[in-house]
Amino acid sequence: MSDNRKNLIGLSRPELAAELAAIGEKPFRAKQLWHWVYYQGESDFAKMTTLSKESRISLAEKFFVARPAIAQEQTSKDRTRKWLLRFEDGNEAEAVFIPEEDRGAVCMSSQVGCTLTCSFCHTGTQKLVRNLSAGEIVGQFMLARDSYGEWPSPAGERLLSNIVLMGMGEPLYNFDEVAKALHIIMDPEGIALSKRRITLSTSGVVPMMQRCGEEIGVNLAVSLHAATNELRDQLVPINRKYPIAELMKACRAYPGANNARRITFEYIMLKGINDSPADAHQLVRLVKGIPAKFNLIPYNSWPGSEFECSTGGAMKRFAEILNDNSLSAPIRVPRGRDIMAACGQLKSASMRQRKNNRPAAEPITDAALTIP
Ligand code: SAH
Ligand code: SF4
Repeated sequence: MSDNRKNLIGLSRPELAAELAAIGEKPFRAKQLWHWVYYQGESDFAKMTTLSKESRISLAEKFFVARPAIAQEQTSKDRTRKWLLRFEDGNEAEAVFIPEEDRGAVCMSSQVGCTLTCSFCHTGTQKLVRNLSAGEIVGQFMLARDSYGEWPSPAGERLLSNIVLMGMGEPLYNFDEVAKALHIIMDPEGIALSKRRITLSTSGVVPMMQRCGEEIGVNLAVSLHAATNELRDQLVPINRKYPIAELMKACRAYPGANNARRITFEYIMLKGINDSPADAHQLVRLVKGIPAKFNLIPYNSWPGSEFECSTGGAMKRFAEILNDNSLSAPIRVPRGRDIMAACGQLKSASMRQRKNNRPAAEPITDAALTIP
C-alpha cells in the first residue's frame, strides 16, 4: 500500500474538486464522490459504482476514506455510547452519543486536551494539547453514524439528530478547522445536518464569537458558571482576559440569536461556591435583554477535584428563581454513569488504567451532554 495516500475526509468541496482536477477527473466527479463519502457513508472506492472503473482505481491509488480508529467503545446501561478515538499520530480524544427517546446528540471533541485550565474540568488537567483537524472532527460524527448504521443520510427522522461541541477542547481556539468541519457536516448534499441542530460550547472566547455566528451560524452555548468576575476569574480563568461584561456584550450581539433560538448558558452546580439564591438573582440581572436559557449541570466530581456537587435542594431552589424570572433552567439528568461518560474522563481513565494496571477509581456522570 502506498503511504503517500491522502484521507478524503476533511477536504472541503473546493479542495476535493481541486484534488480531482489534479488527477484529470472532470468536475462532476467531485460531486459524485462527495455524495458517496458523505451521503452514502461509503469508504470503499470499489463500491462507488457510479464512478468509472478507471476512476475508482486511480482514486484508490491516491486517496483513502477513513474515520479515526476506535481504541475503545463502551455502551452504558442507559444506552449512552462512548468512543475513545486514536488518531494517526497516536493522540486520543473522545466522542459520546447520548440517545433520547427518538433522537440523540453526538458530543464531539475539538482538541486533544485543552489549553485552558478551568478548575472544575478534568480535560484542563491534561498536559498534551493539539488542535484536531477538520477530518478528525467530521470523522467523529461519521463513526458514530457507522456505529448505528445511519447511512445514507436520512431525509426525515434521525437517531443521531444533533451535535454538541462539548467534548474535549475549546472549539473557538480551533476556529478554522471547526468551521471547516461543520460546513462539511451541514452540506445539503452530504451529511446534511442543519445548523439549528448543532450547538457549539465556548468558555467565552469573546473575539471569536461574532465570527462563529456569522461564518458558521450554529447555536451557541456559553460556559458561564459564575455570576461575578471575582468567582469566574477563579473557575474559568479565561474570564481574566474577557470578563463577564464583555462576554455578555458579545452574547447580545450574537448573530442569529432570538427568542426562538436562544443562547444556552451552561452553569455547573458547585456546592457552596456558586449555588446560592443570591447567585441566581445575579444571573437574572446579567442576562437581561439576551435571548437566554440555562442548563444547570450537576457537577461531575473526579479524583483529586476540590469541588462537590450542590445538593438536590439547592439546585431546585436555584432553578426556581430562574424559572420565576421566565428563564428556562432544566437540571440536567446525568447520563452514562457506569461508563464514565463525562467529557475528558474516558481518555484520562484509560491512561490511568494503562499506567497503574487497575481500573480508574470512580464512575463519573455527565450531564452536560443532553441536547441543549
Ligand atoms: N471548552 C468548551 C467546550 C467543552 S466543555 C467549554 O468550556 O464550554 C463542555 C461543558 O462541560 C462545559 O460547560 C464545561 O464547563 C462542562 N464541564 C467540564 N467539566 C465538568 C465537570 N467536571 N462536571 C460537569 N460539567 C463539566
Ligand atoms: Fe477547556 Fe472547556 Fe474544560 Fe475549560 S471547561 S478546561 S475551556 S474543555
